[in-house]
Amino acid sequence: MMPSRTLCIIGTGVAAIALMQELRRRDTDTPITAIAMDAGHYSYRPNFSAAMARKLSPTDLITEAAEVWSKRLEIELHAFAGILGIDVEARILRTTKGLIAYQDLVLATGSRTRMPEFGIDARSAILFADNLPGYSDAYPTLQAASHVAIVGAGLVGCEFADDLARSGRRVTVFDPAPRPMARLIPEQLSHRLATTLSTHGVQWEMGTSIQNIEKIGSRRLVTFGSTEKFLQVDAILSAAGLIPNTAIAELAGLECLPAVPVDAHMATSCPNIYAIGDVAQPPGGWRPFVAGAQQGAKVLAARLTGDRNVHFDGTPKPISVKTRLFPMRLLPPGVNVPGQWHIVVDRFDDFVAHFFDKQGHLQAYALGGNAAKNPDHWPPLGEPINRESYHA
Ligand SMILES: Cc1cc2nc3c(=O)[nH]c(=O)nc-3n(C[C@H](O)[C@H](O)[C@H](O)COP(=O)(O)OP(=O)(O)OC[C@H]3O[C@@H](n4cnc5c(N)ncnc54)[C@H](O)[C@@H]3O)c2cc1C
Repeated sequence: MMPSRTLCIIGTGVAAIALMQELRRRDTDTPITAIAMDAGHYSYRPNFSAAMARKLSPTDLITEAAEVWSKRLEIELHAFAGILGIDVEARILRTTKGLIAYQDLVLATGSRTRMPEFGIDARSAILFADNLPGYSDAYPTLQAASHVAIVGAGLVGCEFADDLARSGRRVTVFDPAPRPMARLIPEQLSHRLATTLSTHGVQWEMGTSIQNIEKIGSRRLVTFGSTEKFLQVDAILSAAGLIPNTAIAELAGLECLPAVPVDAHMATSCPNIYAIGDVAQPPGGWRPFVAGAQQGAKVLAARLTGDRNVHFDGTPKPISVKTRLFPMRLLPPGVNVPGQWHIVVDRFDDFVAHFFDKQGHLQAYALGGNAAKNPDHWPPLGEPINRESYHA
């Protein structure tokens, strides 16, 4: 006989735990089932790119063990469960642990780091340290390594470079882009970041790609660049960008762009199915950051408890970049917003740049060094500002 219907949440990451907490704050009675493909321990992903310098083992990165949070929040947890199919008409999940009938289904399956475009042989050499299972696999190799190559000089790649350099390792970062974090920050700030990290053992191979990887004993021989240069390293870590985990959404027949489009209440196009966190694309665009995951969880908790007055606000939120050697605080410009960076301060330990749209409204900013730590420098947005008289 089919058990009674529950609210079913797939995933036990930042968005899922925030949702369960908010639901329990609003309503203690609804039966909730959580499904994890692993043990279901809660770990906070931003900690993974700042863990080696703090000598944190995989166990240290468990923020709350599965048995602790599931008991605290009174959730029935199915750990190590795979989803085999979804009958969206009958509202039934077919899992490796049996059938689960849902009242409402929440997809909170997050995102993963992209596999760089290497040949099959080279792929087995790539480490992923951006979640608990990945970090557990990568940890012994990273710990033993004295020289690590990082694929990708975006925000996460720069955080890993900073972390590994502070842990005493040599680091080489590869990216076809001309400079670190090229899509997020102005050129001058990229240079400031690159120079600071270089003095701590980070080498930048920008405008270049890895062509091949060969195993030589316990080491890796990396071939890179159009003129085939070589480098021997002990480990290769991917930070080649995040992509949403949409395999389960696809089982439900949902459109993925590449994340799952949701409305301002986090509802997908399929009745009784919702999506939150990095797997969801709310109005305003896909932004794989904690602030959006937490806000989506609050909005959905309201929706599921009958409150339709809470909406997702798609305004971009500032991000703190955990490059401790040169901290940054950013509000990146929207992808299609025409405008220009205006450098306000560019000193050794301090950097302030503002991005103005064509109407002269402040749309984005990039702060580095001391300015990133000082809230007095965090400007109000959307106000027309006279650039000449504005002093950060
Ligand atoms: C290294 C790194 C550093 C970051 N630093 C920052 C930062 O400083 N600030 C910031 O705002 N954001 C940061 N982010 C982004 C941030 O971590 C994410 O936006 C946030 O974790 C999204 O929450 P989520 O619940 O959607 O995904 P996650 O927290 O990743 O949780 C996803 C959950 O889904 C589960 N899952 C996946 N597939 C399946 C499946 N098939 N079946 C069942 N379960 C599944 C996973 O096991 C996990 O439990 C960082 C990301 C990375 C990778």
